[in-house]
Amino acid sequence: MHDHPNPAAPATSRRTLLKAAGAAFLGASATLAGAGRAGAAATRNTADVIVIGGGFAGVTAARELKKAGLSSIILEARGRLGGRTWSTTFAGEPIELGGEAIDPKQPNVWAEAQRYGIATTSGGGLDSFVMPSGSGFTILSPGAASTRLAQLFTPFFDGSAALFPNPFDPFSGTGLQAFDQLSMRDRLNQLAYAPADEAWINGTTAGLSGGTSARGAYTMLAQSWALSGGTYEGYVSINTYGVQGGTAALLNAILADSQAQVRLNSPVAAVTTAGKTVTVLTTTGAVYVAPRVVVAVPVNLWKTIKFLPGLPAEFGAVSRAGIGVPNSKKIFMHVRGGAAGAFVAHPPEGFPISTTVPHSTLADGTRIIFCFSTDPQVTGTSVAQMQGLLSQLSPGIQVLATTAQNWGADRYSLGGWSCRQPGMLTGPYRTIQQPVGRLAFAGSDIASGWSGYIDGAVESGKTAARQVLAMSSAGDPVLVG
Ligand SMILES: Cc1cc2nc3c(=O)[nH]c(=O)nc-3n(C[C@H](O)[C@H](O)[C@H](O)COP(=O)(O)OP(=O)(O)OC[C@H]3O[C@@H](n4cnc5c(N)ncnc54)[C@H](O)[C@@H]3O)c2cc1C
Repeated sequence: MHDHPNPAAPATSRRTLLKAAGAAFLGASATLAGAGRAGAAATRNTADVIVIGGGFAGVTAARELKKAGLSSIILEARGRLGGRTWSTTFAGEPIELGGEAIDPKQPNVWAEAQRYGIATTSGGGLDSFVMPSGSGFTILSPGAASTRLAQLFTPFFDGSAALFPNPFDPFSGTGLQAFDQLSMRDRLNQLAYAPADEAWINGTTAGLSGGTSARGAYTMLAQSWALSGGTYEGYVSINTYGVQGGTAALLNAILADSQAQVRLNSPVAAVTTAGKTVTVLTTTGAVYVAPRVVVAVPVNLWKTIKFLPGLPAEFGAVSRAGIGVPNSKKIFMHVRGGAAGAFVAHPPEGFPISTTVPHSTLADGTRIIFCFSTDPQVTGTSVAQMQGLLSQLSPGIQVLATTAQNWGADRYSLGGWSCRQPGMLTGPYRTIQQPVGRLAFAGSDIASGWSGYIDGAVESGKTAARQVLAMSSAGDPVLVG
């Protein structure tokens, strides 16, 4: 590549860069009261590229840049990498508090698992489905429930193939402009389902949207349907496989390949471009400089970082509106017994928890299950509260313990899985996928294909690396990685 780092660069190049960085830093500190006291020694933090955010998007970008000969420093706000994926344990079992499932229909993440020889896992048995019925719930066989779910969901997605003929290019279809104005609620209303029928599917649309079906764009789900091959079976099958050793095993394999330096507990406060240098300032006062930067934090976090010069208006508008859904929680429960056995439940819109899924069965016959919630009143950490809710789904079930992650309240996510709002795709989306000067943006929130999935994060990390490599390097200072 024409902008490979040059290990033989004379020391003066580096001094020139650091001087320029100091000037840029002073510019940033003038607008960040009290944040400007980092010592000059901190400006030794240099690489060819600074990557802000150590989720799948950021780590993949660093790996791709390394393949092209460029060194990276990853600045990660939290004390761990992985972002909205988080491999941990509960009741002695490995669990994922965030993103978990990968699928062969998701070519970017699937290729990563294959590249590093990481095996996939699939879940255990299933006894029943618990579905809305009247003002309560009924327990059905998985076959009977799936047949009816397929019948109800399929018309919801009529026309998806025309909207997304090449589903990895979200702009390839016809009629997108009009459909993109629809919320999932608008689409449910268009189809005028009988109330009992709508109750079977509006819990899914509300959950994915972040609490109410009126929030999420219809095209978000229609694109997932098209990416899944346009069938209900394809759509539900994307939740079949997990990663052996957890998502952390896959992330760490990519990270090792990147040879990036990682700085944990380094929340970025300001990103200042001055001439050919980008200066990145953390809330702890550390300063990093590089000719190029990949911003791989959630879209909802863009508004918390001071960019100088400012980003185009679309970036701020989308960040304030939000793509990561509010109030999103993933809740794990250790349970015993219950009439429904190992069950999948799809409670209707308005019920305090949404999709509920079995995770594993322990040696003593107790089970780990998980559910999602976007209800602000549900903490997921109260055994009594979860007992009250689960008893309605599976009478006789006993909740022994719970753990939960509230991604909406997490200050380094400010939201959970991605779900664009009506008008975003055909409005600002193209703009926010593009680099701005020396900054490239990455993240599942702005992916072209599987936005809202690990696959989208990997895809966008690759895209951002390509964008960095395409940036003009003429006259740039030379850094030694
Ligand atoms: C509950 C839940 C369940 C999900 N289930 C699935 C699933 O089953 N399958 C699937 O494929 N996907 C799933 N997803 C989605 C998937 O987890 C995400 O799309 C993906 O992990 C996002 O990766 P990312 O790198 O784009 O963003 P993130 O993972 O959010 O990474 C961004 C990083 O930036 C860091 N950061 C934030 N602010 C700053 C700052 N100022 N300075 C420095 N660093 C900062 C964050 O700490 C984070 O590490 C789920 C998500 C959630 C929340």
